[in-house]
Amino acid sequence: MTDGNKTKKFNISKSRASQEKAAAAKIPPQKKQETFDRLRGMKDVLFDDWKYFSLVKKKAGELAKAYSFRRLETPILENAKLYERSSGNGSDLVTKEMYSFLDKGGDKIALRPEGTPSIVRAYIEHGMFTLPQPIKTFWYGSLFRYEKPQSGRYREHHQINFDVFGEAKPMADAQLILLAYNFFKELQIDIQVQINSIGCPLCRPNYLKQLVEYYQTRGKRSKLCVDCKKRLIKNPLRLLDCKEETCIELAVDAPQLVDCLCEDCKNHFVRVLEYLDLLAVPYNLNSHLVRGLDYYNRTVFEFTPTGEEERRQLSLGGGGRYDYLVEFMGGRATPAIGFGIGVERVVSRVRNMAIPMECEEKYDVFVAQLGEASRQKAMTLFEELRRANIKVKEAFTKENLKSQLEDADRAKVRYALILGQKELMDGTILIRDMESGIQEVVDFKKILHEIDKRLNNQ
Ligand SMILES: [Zn+2]
Ligand SMILES: [Zn+2]
Repeated sequence: MTDGNKTKKFNISKSRASQEKAAAAKIPPQKKQETFDRLRGMKDVLFDDWKYFSLVKKKAGELAKAYSFRRLETPILENAKLYERSSGNGSDLVTKEMYSFLDKGGDKIALRPEGTPSIVRAYIEHGMFTLPQPIKTFWYGSLFRYEKPQSGRYREHHQINFDVFGEAKPMADAQLILLAYNFFKELQIDIQVQINSIGCPLCRPNYLKQLVEYYQTRGKRSKLCVDCKKRLIKNPLRLLDCKEETCIELAVDAPQLVDCLCEDCKNHFVRVLEYLDLLAVPYNLNSHLVRGLDYYNRTVFEFTPTGEEERRQLSLGGGGRYDYLVEFMGGRATPAIGFGIGVERVVSRVRNMAIPMECEEKYDVFVAQLGEASRQKAMTLFEELRRANIKVKEAFTKENLKSQLEDADRAKVRYALILGQKELMDGTILIRDMESGIQEVVDFKKILHEIDKRLNNQ
């Protein structure tokens, strides 16, 4: 016999604890390492928050099903040019807020700052225009914007998007708004739908001319904020939704877009409002609502919290028609409309309402064990119960029976199955009724049947 064999034998006979101790003694102590924090504006969704996220996601999924929207996902990374085209090369979104960088192959790529361009890209790339229209999509994903983190805004946030492609009729606008309204209502969030029409390439230029004239005459221009002075040249429509006090005052008397709509745009808008009236969806005609993105036309809308003090807060979501975007992105001319809802903002509302939530996983049975041999048998039993669709919980890393039963108590299970050395020898198992504390010995082979009988025949 060699020395090596002797050592092996000796090690086996050692207790596990002393083996672990010996192993630990051999590892040299490490120098204290620096820890890592999340990046600024990023968020971890921990256990308690996750239940709200999953509730919100579930509600969106239910409504998607009810209104025949189909789920699709797009990659987080896209060609940066996609957003440069859809939002405009000089837009704040692209120049200030978008996370873009060169990858190892030298391609300029971006973390998606919004959902719609990706969805439009997918619609075009997969030739969805050849399928029966309309194509109704449901999308859930994270968006990234490099902006100043403030209340309710993160650099990574989640959004739910609903979009309809290939349908120009006002019915599509109304159905989308109804869907969003139901989403908030069924989550018990009071919102108001802000709605406006921003016309089409036929009627909008005429309006913009009137708008610019309004701001340029009567000495109004000098009162505008710095940003709005720039907007007056680059994007006069945005003058209407500036949040600066003086700009808000000036906008009150500005000419209204709805007065300048062409016949088709006016008819479309009237029909949308008629449907909303019919469906009893409350809305507010908001002539200052223009939405931040250039690709919208006709109907635009936003969902704002109700209540005086809340009105100035951030909207919970919004959207509009983008009948020219698919063609602008290289596809075949396709009318489209969609909206997005900010998941974090909805979650924060739901959390503040403190509705009792039933999201904690419920268990019926706990498998407890005492001693290594019992543990091994209990682990197999756990798998058997789980496969039989019994809601079963365990704490196999624990040695102590008392602390396992405390776990069982906390999990509010109805029965604990206890497998100790005696039961192991006898081929039995104990069923403990957690409420009464009454214990019964049953044949181990019949345990599945016994537990099923107790859970279902009461
Ligand atoms: Zn028009
Ligand atoms: Zn302004």
